[in-house]
Amino acid sequence: MRLLILEDDPQLGDALATGLRQLGHAVDWFTGGTEADAAIDSAPYDAAVLDLGLPGTDGMVWLRRWRERSSALPVLILTARDGVQQRIAGLDAGADDYLIKPISTEELAARLRAMLRRATGRAQAEWTHGALRYDTVTKQVHWQDRPVDLTARELALLEVLLKHPQRVLSKAQLQEQLYDWSGREPESNALEVHVHRLRRKIHPDIVRTVRGVGYALGAEVPA
Ligand code: CA
Repeated sequence: MRLLILEDDPQLGDALATGLRQLGHAVDWFTGGTEADAAIDSAPYDAAVLDLGLPGTDGMVWLRRWRERSSALPVLILTARDGVQQRIAGLDAGADDYLIKPISTEELAARLRAMLRRATGRAQAEWTHGALRYDTVTKQVHWQDRPVDLTARELALLEVLLKHPQRVLSKAQLQEQLYDWSGREPESNALEVHVHRLRRKIHPDIVRTVRGVGYALGAEVPA
């Protein structure tokens, strides 16, 4: 998942960004609403985590603006324990879920997964594609009932392909979903390397190269 966090608390923001990255997600963390607002228009986020208590422009204002732009982006709001009215107002303004501080990264990750399952209309935690089974909760991959050991990046790439089984994704689209703006630019051939490893570890046909365009999920190989 590529996630956006808008949280002005440096300790909490850093902990959430670090924790979610360790779980294999690409995370862009912003402390200011203006920057986050601009980012939403320029990167394909799967979900946003929004602190309502922000200095200057309140989180509620950003939430309303995102919803006015008809952004279908799933949004989870963070509130203080005594912020019942704030939570109600947030849900009414279009938030999909909320968490009360203090927050554990594990619970946040689980809520985000659940939100995404609802957003993509996939109620099941397990996705299958022919002989491939992917458990989105435990992040375990099985090929013909045999466990496959993937790195976080390989897993993230596989997840993007499984999420869009009918689409051909350009290298730029895949890179936008896999890499946040935190680190250095990805090596130009990093994507090819991950594709190569997926084919070697799972099956040569799991990823299809569409010459001149990009990559797509391969045809189903029967179990
Ligand atoms: Ca705050």
